[in-house]
Parts: sequence; structure tokens; C-alpha cells
Amino acid sequence: MKAGLIGLGAMGLGMARNLAKAGLLAAVYNRTESKAQDLADELKVSAHTDPADLAQVVDVVLICISADQDVLAVVNAIATSIKPGTVVIDMSTVSSDTALQASVILAEKQADFLDAPVSGGVEGAKNGTLVTMVGGDVDALARVRPVLAAMTKRIVHMGPVGMGQATKAVNQIMCAGISQAVTEALAFGQAQGLPMDKVVDVISGGASGNWFLEHRGLTMTQGTFAPGFKLALHHKDLNICRHMAEKSGSAIPLSDKTVEDYEQLMAQGFGDEDISALYRLKRDKK
Ligand code: NAP
Repeated sequence: MKAGLIGLGAMGLGMARNLAKAGLLAAVYNRTESKAQDLADELKVSAHTDPADLAQVVDVVLICISADQDVLAVVNAIATSIKPGTVVIDMSTVSSDTALQASVILAEKQADFLDAPVSGGVEGAKNGTLVTMVGGDVDALARVRPVLAAMTKRIVHMGPVGMGQATKAVNQIMCAGISQAVTEALAFGQAQGLPMDKVVDVISGGASGNWFLEHRGLTMTQGTFAPGFKLALHHKDLNICRHMAEKSGSAIPLSDKTVEDYEQLMAQGFGDEDISALYRLKRDKK
């Protein structure tokens, strides 16, 4: 099986290297062409300057790019050349509606579509320990399972197309609440004059321990917010969640608050920083 990966950002780079390690990567595409060429040279695969060219030479197309409109543009491009029987797996975080639109476009070309958003951060992408929540046809998933397994430690089929993204929305809402709690608590701890390395260490081992505290706790208290997960991307995700919540009549006040906070940080030019930059607001609240 030959896979091609579209999108070599913070997540895509690690995914590509793990696919190559498993002998499954044949081709890459990135909007900024130099990134694709550099990685293609490193991994000895082909670099393409057009997603449609990549789709012609592989059996599985993976996508990991920023937002809904980008995914639809790429899907429309690959639909012009895709071979029947190809499986397209979108690992970006977008709306369920976008996933459904993509599946309709590709079904006309007898290609399958799976929405398979991931969780686990850039560390998970690098180490091949992401988890993925998949929407779409079970048989198509069975065919591409080895490709997903090269990048992930857990693959869970959630239901038809769109259900993967709906599950990811649950994750993003939870992530907003966790970021609020961790940044607020650590800013409080720092204001108490506590040794923050010890605070992060001891609390990580107890009942309040979590991924965000463990991976971003120390760096945020040191004032470092390198991405990671860009807060502008989480802002995009939370707006998708708010739209879904409005439709289902659910309340997500922690996400509403986080969107507000991110907008303040984005206005100050911090949109490309990691979501742990929320700490800036908690720290500066004194
Ligand atoms: P990133 O580092 O900002 O990279 C974005 C990628 O998308 C780049 O390769 C970029 O190309 C490409 N891109 C953007 N607009 C495009 C367009 N119109 N056409 C083609 N390519 C386009 O983002 P990331 O962190 O890798 O995230 C990628 C996706 O995974 C997002 O949907 C994000 O929400 C999701 N995600 C991220 C994390 C995380 O921790 N970072 C975790 C789980 C899921 P250029 O290089 O040319 O800019």
C-alpha cells in the first residue's frame, strides 16, 4: 500500500516520518513547496507541487492541514485525478459538515473518505502515539488500518462520516476546560512563591495529573509558549464546537470563555503561540 501525505506542519512532519519508518510513505505535498522538497529528500519519497499529482500515484491520501476551507480546496483538487478505490483520510480538525461534504465529492469518484482527527499533540505525532477517532465506512477503515497504525497507538471507529470530527469536538471542549484550570492553578502557585518544577512534578503524579500539565506545565511557568498547538487553531476548533452546541442546545461556557481569551491574545499578536500562552492572561491578572 502506498500512502501520500498532504500537509507538513507541526503534526504532519512527525506523521510523515512514522509512515516512512513503516515503509508506507510514497509521496508528500505541502503548500510551501520547500518543506515538501526537504522532507522528500530526507525520506527518499516524491515531492509534488500539486495535490492532484500526488493523488495519482498513491492508494491512500492523508490530509493534515489547518481549517475547513483548506480541506475542501484540497479535496476538490484531488478529486480531479483520484483513482477509484482510493481512500482519503482527513486527520485535520474540521467540522462534521466539512467531512460530509468531502465524502460526497469523493464518492462521485468512487473513492472512500474517512474523517480521522487525532489527539496527542506534536509529541504524539512525532512518537507515533496519537489516538484517532474515525468516522466512515468500516471496510475502508479495515483496508487502511496499517497506515493509521503506523502513526497512532489507538484507533476507534465512532460511526458514519462526521462522527470522528464530532468526537474530536468533545476533545477540544475538554481541552479548553483543562487549559483554563491548569493555567489558572499554576499562575496561583507561582504567585504563592512555590518551586514550580516541584509543583508540576508532584501534581502530575496525583489525581489532578493530566497531559497538558505534564507537557506544558513547566514551560508555561518559565514564560515559553512555542507551538505545540497554535492557539489560533484551537480558537478555530472551539468556534466549530460552539456552532455544534448551538444546534444541539448544549451549553459550553468554558469554551466561550476560552474563545474570548484567545481573541484577546490573538489581538496582541500571540495567535501562533501554543495554547499554554493562556497563562499570559492568568499571570498578568494580578
Ligand atoms: P500547522 O503547524 O499550522 O500546519 C498547518 C499545515 O496546513 C501546513 O502544512 C500548511 O502549509 C497547511 N495549510 C494551511 N492552509 C492550507 C491550504 N489552504 N492549502 C494547503 N495547505 C494548507 O498546524 P498543525 O499543528 O500541524 O495542525 C494541522 C491540523 O491538525 C489542524 O487542523 C489542527 O487543528 C490539527 N491538530 C493539531 C494538533 C497540535 O497539537 N498541533 C493536535 C491535533 C490536531 P504551509 O506550510 O504552506 O503553511
